[in-house]
Amino acid sequence: MSRAWNFSAGPAALPQPVLEELREVLLEFSDCRAGLMEISHRSKQFSAVLDSATVRMRRVLGVPDDYAVVFQQGGASMQFHAVPLNLCAPGEAMALVDTGTWTSKAVEEASRVADARVAWSGKPFGYTRLPEPGELDAAALDGAAYLHYCSNNTIRGTQFQAPPSVDLPLIADLSSDIASKPVDVSAHEVIFAGAQKNLGPSGVTALILSPWALERSRDAGGSRPGGLPSMLDHALQAKKDGMFNTPNTWGIYALDRVLAWVESEGGVAAMASRNTEKAEKLYGELDRTEFWRPHVQGTARSQMNVVWRLPSEMLEARFVAEATEAGMLALKGHRSVGGIRASLYNAVPVEAVDALVGFMQEFERVHG
Ligand code: PMP
Repeated sequence: MSRAWNFSAGPAALPQPVLEELREVLLEFSDCRAGLMEISHRSKQFSAVLDSATVRMRRVLGVPDDYAVVFQQGGASMQFHAVPLNLCAPGEAMALVDTGTWTSKAVEEASRVADARVAWSGKPFGYTRLPEPGELDAAALDGAAYLHYCSNNTIRGTQFQAPPSVDLPLIADLSSDIASKPVDVSAHEVIFAGAQKNLGPSGVTALILSPWALERSRDAGGSRPGGLPSMLDHALQAKKDGMFNTPNTWGIYALDRVLAWVESEGGVAAMASRNTEKAEKLYGELDRTEFWRPHVQGTARSQMNVVWRLPSEMLEARFVAEATEAGMLALKGHRSVGGIRASLYNAVPVEAVDALVGFMQEFERVHG
């Protein structure tokens, strides 16, 4: 068996050269005479890995010097709870833009520690679109400590072209489009992202914190009886450089190697132009014939996750089965939307999209 084109939504395709490097260090890393997974997180060899990963995150994403970069565990899901815990005093208001699953979950988790207000919801539109400027509910924003949004909805296939424009501190869940295009980090107070789409394997969450966010975290620690739980305390985690407890050493090494690959390919600007090329090819095919029914239209379309339906569920099942047979993996849509989803993260090459589009044209010729 050989490796196929992988359109998985996450954990997702990794660059082949990175996988080869990982294979090497599995048995022996640096001068350790042991594999990377087998050495102490306090060793000088792993300290160098952590430094490299942190510096690279700063360089690749353009993180301002006074922001903290920390690698955590617990996934992006842990941050749905940790962010309001750190940024809000007990019962204080915060606002969210609900663009589907990942923000609906964030509302639920934030409600446990804050007054979570939905400033706009895509629910009445089946989460097929994003808010226009000025559509956010002013009453929900009024007095909120910050606005939380998800830049790319992995399941629904929607993506913001730019952050919502509001006069509030911005918090972004960048799990599924981090490092896929340039992002103005300084316009945000907190950015978090699970690594398992564009940065590496699951089990590492990148957390970027502004001085304001760190200050709020210290205040929250003081205003909650007994302080914040250590593992959720952003200021403490940043102070310890993510080494409060044992980090995911393997995942952080892989993340460093993925970012080195991004740099060697020309950085996030080069990723963006390649991602645009891939998305244009696939949406071009989806718009060519009414046989395909794209879930999202216009500027809300995601370059990372492309979602569409076919005329029947039977044809959808057949599409997925035949595509798998033809060497294209993980095209089945998420159960909450159905149909087909192709995830086109950084490590998915243009050739994979060419192969998919070729397969689609043949499928439509036979079944259309
Ligand atoms: N946010 C987004 C946009 C996601 O796509 C995901 C996972 N697919 C999550 C949050 C949850 O991430 P995790 O599984 O790392 O908690």
